[in-house]
Amino acid sequence: MKSQARVVVIGGGVVGCSVLYHLTRRGWTDVLLIERSELTSGSTWHAAGGFHTLNGDPNVAKLQAYTVSLYKEIEEISGQSCGLHLTGGLQLADTPERLDWLKMAHARGRYLGMETEIISAKEAKELLPLIDERHFVGAIWDPIEGHLDPSGTTHAYAKAARKAGAEISLRNRVVELAQKPDGTWLVVTEQGTVEAEHVVNAGGLWAREVGRMVGLELPVLAMEHHYLLTEDMPEIAEIVASTGKEMVHAIDFSGEIYTRQERGGMLLGTYERAATPWSPRQTPWDFGQELLAPNLERIAPSLEIGFEHFPALKHTGIKQFVNGPFTFAPDGNPLVGPVRGLTNFWCACAVMAGFSQGGGVGLALSNWMVDGDPGFDIWGMDVARFGPWATLAYTNAKVRENYSRRFRIRYPNEELPAARPHQTTPLYDRMRAQGAVMGDSWALETPLWFAPEGTEPRDIVSFRRSNDFEHVKAECQAVRNGVGITEIANFAKYEIAGPGAEAFLDRLMTNRMPALGRMVLTPMLNETGKLIGDFTIARIADDRFLMWGSSQAEIYHMRWFERHLPQDGSVRVTPINLGWVGLSIAGPKARDLLARVTGDDVSNAAFPFMASRAMDVAAAPCHVSRISYTGDLGYEIWMAPHYERRVYDALKEAGADLGLRDFGMRALLCLRLEKNFGTWFREFRPIYGPYEADLGRFIALNKGDFIGREAALREKETGGTLRRMSFVVEAGDADVIGDEPIWHDGKVVGWVTSGGYGHFVDASLAQGYLPKELASLGPDGAFEIEIIGERVKARIITEPLFDPRAERMRM
Ligand SMILES: Cc1cc2nc3c(=O)[nH]c(=O)nc-3n(C[C@H](O)[C@H](O)[C@H](O)COP(=O)(O)OP(=O)(O)OC[C@H]3O[C@@H](n4cnc5c(N)ncnc54)[C@H](O)[C@@H]3O)c2cc1C
Repeated sequence: MKSQARVVVIGGGVVGCSVLYHLTRRGWTDVLLIERSELTSGSTWHAAGGFHTLNGDPNVAKLQAYTVSLYKEIEEISGQSCGLHLTGGLQLADTPERLDWLKMAHARGRYLGMETEIISAKEAKELLPLIDERHFVGAIWDPIEGHLDPSGTTHAYAKAARKAGAEISLRNRVVELAQKPDGTWLVVTEQGTVEAEHVVNAGGLWAREVGRMVGLELPVLAMEHHYLLTEDMPEIAEIVASTGKEMVHAIDFSGEIYTRQERGGMLLGTYERAATPWSPRQTPWDFGQELLAPNLERIAPSLEIGFEHFPALKHTGIKQFVNGPFTFAPDGNPLVGPVRGLTNFWCACAVMAGFSQGGGVGLALSNWMVDGDPGFDIWGMDVARFGPWATLAYTNAKVRENYSRRFRIRYPNEELPAARPHQTTPLYDRMRAQGAVMGDSWALETPLWFAPEGTEPRDIVSFRRSNDFEHVKAECQAVRNGVGITEIANFAKYEIAGPGAEAFLDRLMTNRMPALGRMVLTPMLNETGKLIGDFTIARIADDRFLMWGSSQAEIYHMRWFERHLPQDGSVRVTPINLGWVGLSIAGPKARDLLARVTGDDVSNAAFPFMASRAMDVAAAPCHVSRISYTGDLGYEIWMAPHYERRVYDALKEAGADLGLRDFGMRALLCLRLEKNFGTWFREFRPIYGPYEADLGRFIALNKGDFIGREAALREKETGGTLRRMSFVVEAGDADVIGDEPIWHDGKVVGWVTSGGYGHFVDASLAQGYLPKELASLGPDGAFEIEIIGERVKARIITEPLFDPRAERMRM
């Protein structure tokens, strides 16, 4: 084994080998993979080897499609067969709701270029004669689905990497990791120490333990997983003889079952509801190529359904049960990327579908290591999406929930119960007592809407408008006609201080920094000119700034800030997190309300739009900003949590005769739609440029240099390729959710990013991206949006339906 390498990849499962191969493909050939035992010794060797492209996150779906397309390439380079069987696959819907869900997946697949098809139960039976079609109402057909040989595929990656110069060290466990003051790593192994610039944790079943070597507690947990193999079946022999093809894959949602042909019999796996973690605290280092004892009781409920839905199984013997562990993050997607606070320590773990996702993970990570950017929108897999709140016990509860729901529908208005409440603010009990239906905003309880007295505070889950509709409407109207109050603790807040603070922000942000006591809105770009942040910044002293952004992205943003901090200590960036909570009051009577609880002059002249300063509110020291995401007259009041109840109670009391009403996050999101305001991670993501996203007014190209300026300038000159547009939708009883295709002239030309009902303007609204040429058609363009399988008319609006001249915010 060499003693120095540019990169050490820890782990020779399918993911580690894919990372190794992709690094060589990007020209980094001084790379070494270290494997504890033989290649495939973790979860890889006993995988069922299935692959598919469908995924709830369109960006992850794209990387899955890439993975599947890669197998031919690595076979050719390595000369090693991956044992590919491209059979195509069915997902069988047992209820109309499930069929709706499949129709939405099909629609989303259209703008991803996927060639899925919605078919009837009868057509499904023709493709898969083993089913009893009476149990199904329809299905989706995906031709790009199949299975492969897990070991052959892993070795194909490894051989292709070796051919390009990579080295692989087997039967050699990494026992310790230490970082030298210059940032390079000492990788201590059973066979000696290697010095490396970069370390990749592709430890699979042991990723958590490898993380612990550098002081990390990664949110990853292994679950036991069963599949079984049947004896040969005459029914399968008949299908193969009559069609000349292998049997197609199938997912049967009601049984939580997946099936495929394995030699002359069937392979049938389950994501059983009685989900069982494996080695919940510590994975034993001596766990070899072993299987776990099967537990038939746990999978019996699925098998019973399987016997009904695939009747031939009733008289078929079972040859073998396989029970093996593999890992999941709390939301079921991988953990990829650089870890905040550690130089050149990278993750490629928690990959639960290594044969659908391993290629995409390798591509994204190698781009990131070589170019400093993954080159795609991989937020759905970014290790930075989990904060310190994702503890061992939290991860355990969420992974079990996610596993047991793997084949269940997640409705757009459905909040999942595991590990809740996790983080709460001092208002939690008070809001619950007032009928708040709470939501989980990245592990923080947040009010969604308030059920008036006599109404049960509970969502009825649906793809269509539901029981909250009329209550959210009343909340929106209360804001627009009078004044409303909501909690906004779920923003990220930062303090940026020091003699270099202004220069630092000027370099990272696209807008000019504000004057003392004022605020600006500003995007943040990466070097390629794509949007990686969207902030509000206030100057509170010459060398001190406050900044607000998306709370989900706090670690993602801190990682970027820390990467760009000057080395001389002249700037400190401090995330405030829940050290501050916030209340937002909004509506034409918001000023009257604020004036009743503060001694400060809050008149329009003394405290105009975009002003921001310290102020006592209800005798508590607060920081107040004159801004509101509702697009109305409004204020955000920030304070330490121990003052929140006092301030809230004082505002409620003072506002009683102004008609003050609590409103929740759902009303807030509807109100922002009426102003065509975009939101981070929906309209603003790292695949869009600032002019494409209609944020050009916040790009101060002539202020001097900033990161992404050159690219932004080019985008301005060329106009980019896309445009964020707003639409009024002729919706029936269902509004857009996000990710629906936009049609024009019989073709899918764009996609929806978000939408909902604008209750005050009384219109169904959507935002999305179109090619710029079509965007210029404006209201005359004949567009349609596909909502649950039905195309409805959508008209472009070029200005917000509420207050187009923005007078309310400034009144
Ligand atoms: C029963 C079952 C069925 C499955 N079916 C499918 C399927 O149909 N389709 C699909 O896509 N996925 C399936 N999977 C999941 C799939 O197996 C995983 O997604 C995949 O194996 C993950 O690969 P990995 O490389 O991340 O991890 P692993 O395969 O666990 O590899 C990690 C490697 O790192 C090594 N390692 C760890 N720590 C160290 C160290 N300190 N030093 C040196 N080496 C170390 C280990 O020895 C191991 O070889 C299934 C899994 C199971 C259990």
